[in-house]
Parts: sequence; structure tokens; C-alpha cells
Amino acid sequence: MVWELRWHPLYQEWIIVAAHRQTRPWVGEVIPPAEADLPEYDPDCYLCPGNVRASGERNPNYESTFAFNNDFPCVSLNPPLELSQPVGIYRNRPALGIARVLCYHPKHNMSLSLMDVDGVKRVIEAWREEFIRLSMDPNVAYVFIFENRGEVVGVSNPHPHCQIYALSFICKLIERELEACQSHFEDVGRRLMEDIVSSELADGRRIIVEGDAMVAFVPYFARYAYEVMIAPKAHRRDIAELSDEEISDLAEVLHCVLIKYDNLWRMPFPYVLVLHSRPTDGGSYDAYDFHIEIYPPLRAPNLRKYLAGPEIGGGVFLSDTSPEEKAAELRSQPNMHYKHMQGTA
Ligand SMILES: [Zn+2]
Repeated sequence: MVWELRWHPLYQEWIIVAAHRQTRPWVGEVIPPAEADLPEYDPDCYLCPGNVRASGERNPNYESTFAFNNDFPCVSLNPPLELSQPVGIYRNRPALGIARVLCYHPKHNMSLSLMDVDGVKRVIEAWREEFIRLSMDPNVAYVFIFENRGEVVGVSNPHPHCQIYALSFICKLIERELEACQSHFEDVGRRLMEDIVSSELADGRRIIVEGDAMVAFVPYFARYAYEVMIAPKAHRRDIAELSDEEISDLAEVLHCVLIKYDNLWRMPFPYVLVLHSRPTDGGSYDAYDFHIEIYPPLRAPNLRKYLAGPEIGGGVFLSDTSPEEKAAELRSQPNMHYKHMQGTA
């Protein structure tokens, strides 16, 4: 039994890890939820090639990735500038920014886990391209790239895609990471992510897959079951600083993690995936390192982690699973997707 407090060095907070015997690794029969057989093309999908979107624009017959400005943006290059003045001490400002959608693949029933590794690489290259282009806008302080996968995280359209917010401010969690990275660098003269990666490699129990340039692991300080972090071994502040070889390696490592996720319960595994790059407001942020964080909302096939009193009201995460056990479960999954195993006894 694990019953301890673990320090989250990037978010600067304690995690309560209480992994009891009754929540031991999932070993029973798995009854996956009925998985609807999706078509390759859905005439009602606003992301499929050739279809008309809410804006009236028609998607091109794209063959690889396809990005466009979100038809229902939460931030805009032309937000209403005449805002109502709040009463009292409160303050506001225009929601300036750019919200984009990136389709990963023309096929409606595809996913990163089902693509070949070249397809995953093309998606990562599109992430890099979007990051570089949006970061040039002087109004953009942070380029936030994220994918929500699955109905359990509120995605009703299964067409493989992610969203990109180019924001006029820096995301709160990035600010916290920046502060932690900067003070760690001043204290010990090393970068925090470099120390996290070397600690994970030295321990080894939570490593999921290690490539030449990238490593994926369930962090010691995981707040969610099956939470995974993917980080470069070398100092790279953002996705634009990754070389072509590193992008290839990232594609292989990410692909491998996502296949293991789907294989775990033989179902499309829901998650929130976020890219953490340095801000693009002109600062150098030399103590910071690029990484990917993946947060699965489920602890078991039909059991989701609910955020409640401690998390919502106190900012204290309760983890009732052991990161070492969850990492071992993930690592033991085959590297070939279950949907590609048919007929290969
Ligand atoms: Zn579609």
C-alpha cells in the first residue's frame, strides 16, 4: 500500500497518493463499451473533406492534415473592444487571440493511435508549423495546442483533430511551471525538466517507452491514473526547436504510448493531451523545456476520476492509484494496436 505525499515539482503542490488494495491494478474481465463502427466519411461531419462548415465555408479535399480558424472561437482577432465596465474592483479586457482547429487526417474513423508512424509525424509537423506561424503575431503571448479525445471529455465529434489557442496571455499552469523551472535553475544550476527526466531514467519503474531523443513516463508525481509525460532528453524550449530527427522520435514515442492506451481496455482511450512550450511574448525562458502532458479521465473502463472537494475547492489532488503500478500496466501492453491484430494470432 502506498500512502504518502508526493511533491509535484512543476506545479509546486503536494499530491496525496493513497493507493489501497481494493483499487489494485485492473485484472478482471474487461467489457469494453460497445464501440460504434464509424464510417471513413460522415456527410454530417463538419471536419470531413469536402463538407460545408457552420460558417458556410467548404473544407478542401485535404489528404493529410488541414487547419482552419474555428467557426465558434472563444478568442478572436476582432473581439468586441467596447466592454461593459465591471462594478467594483473587477477588471476585464478584450478576448484577443486566434482559435484554430487542426484535422489530423481526412478519414473520420482514424486516430493518432490507428495511424502509421508517418501519419503521426505529419501531425507533429503541423503542430510545429502552427506554433511557428502563430508565435510571430505580436499579439500572441502563448500558443496553446491541445487535443481532447472521447465523449467523457466532452468531444462529440470523433473525427481526429485538436485545437489551438493563440492567446494574448500566458496560461496559469505554464506560469507556475516557468516559476518552478526558473527558481530550480537559480538554486541548483540545472534545468528542472532535465532533472525530472534523469530521475525517471535512474528509477526506471515508471518509464513507458524510451527513444533516442524522447522519453515517455508516468511521472512520480502523477495526479491521474495512467498520466503520461513525454519529454526530450536535450534542452528544447518549444516544439519549434525540435530537429527533424527529434520529431521522428517523438512520433514513435507518442504513437507507442497511444497504442498502449487503446490496448489497455481494447477501446478508444479518452484523454486530454497538451503541449507545453515556452511563451512567445519575447522572453527567452532558457530554464524551461518543452514537454507533452497526457491526462486520462478514466481509472477503469467505466470508472472516471471525479474532481471534487479537494481538487476543485482546495487544489489538492488525491491519487488513489500508484504511479509505479499504472506504469507497469501500460508498459506491458503490446506495441501493436488491437484493431491491427486481427488474424495475427
Ligand atoms: Zn469527419
